[in-house]
Amino acid sequence: MILITGGAGYIGSHCAIDFIKSGYDVVILDNLSVGHIEIIERLKDFAKNHNEEQKGSLVDFINADINDTYALNVLFNTYKIDAVIHFAADALVNESVINPRKYYENNVIGSINLLNSMIDNNVKKIVFSSTCATYGEPEYVPIDEKHVQKPVNPYGNTKLAMEFAIKDYAKAYGLKYTIFRYFNVIGADSEGVTGEWHNIETHLVPNILKADENKVFKLFGDNYETKDGTCIRDYIDVCDLARAHTLAYEYLKENTSTIINLGTGEGQSVKEIFSAVEKTLDTKIPLEVCERREGDPAKLIAKPMLAKEVLGWEANTPLEKSVKNAKEWEKTLKTLQNNKKPVQNTKNWGALI
Ligand code: UDP
Repeated sequence: MILITGGAGYIGSHCAIDFIKSGYDVVILDNLSVGHIEIIERLKDFAKNHNEEQKGSLVDFINADINDTYALNVLFNTYKIDAVIHFAADALVNESVINPRKYYENNVIGSINLLNSMIDNNVKKIVFSSTCATYGEPEYVPIDEKHVQKPVNPYGNTKLAMEFAIKDYAKAYGLKYTIFRYFNVIGADSEGVTGEWHNIETHLVPNILKADENKVFKLFGDNYETKDGTCIRDYIDVCDLARAHTLAYEYLKENTSTIINLGTGEGQSVKEIFSAVEKTLDTKIPLEVCERREGDPAKLIAKPMLAKEVLGWEANTPLEKSVKNAKEWEKTLKTLQNNKKPVQNTKNWGALI
């Protein structure tokens, strides 16, 4: 059985789908602070329907926090966990500057607590979601895994702190790990099961999609030293990204630990993404050029060669498909948000005792 922390969130839920499709049993641990119970229900439905076609997986859900040692111990005693895919974290750069305490408590103390419970319960494989934010302002692009790590905000610092901790635990306690450093993740599940659902949306593609005649899209800065003045990022489809986690788990069963960038190797500017969305959806979207957003580097592009060498993995979803899937998901999301339920009917860890 695979434990996915943060599986009610954006990347975690796509990863759950990939594990389910590959026939694994999954237990999701999520405190629902940013994840949603509706996503869990949709994952369970998906697994049920998927199971009818082929012998597939179970999805169980534990509503608990990674800081809750007791819940973790109950979980590890209840399920035979072979590996942990660890997503549970806060991930808003601005918020991390204003409220670093929250980020150190959740991303560092919570993750250390999880690592300790893993070691105590003899669970020795982890796939950890780190970020290109650990590189900070790039000294060169494309960025390979050897690039110096100098984060420029508390969020990046907390992820880098956990990279150190995981490496130290690996040496001392025989933990095996894959650390993934994600670039910019976009898109949604192609069957519409899950997608991006943030209560505070800061990301580019969902913000373009949410713009309409009443709400203009705000482009943060067009005076960077790039080809069209807007920032360049490496946009990777979330389903491609999720696939890498299942491959990493399978690789870890037989092989050693690695640190791997997940990106496409191609850079796109904000203006290019904006035009691609307009073209793909055949629509005009109102745009306003605003001041630069603090802390945005001009250019971040991954060198994704290691992922190919080690995992045989490559991003292959075209941008247009990511945009279409994200647009479809926006429609589902509106319905889900309009019918949002209070969180009551979840199975919590107490029910396992
Ligand atoms: N961006 C923008 N308007 C938005 C959201 C983002 O112009 O509403 C720009 C942002 O300044 C950055 C790029 O889009 O240059 C990607 O931002 P995002 O927040 O999606 O990811 P980040 O690179 O910050 O992790």
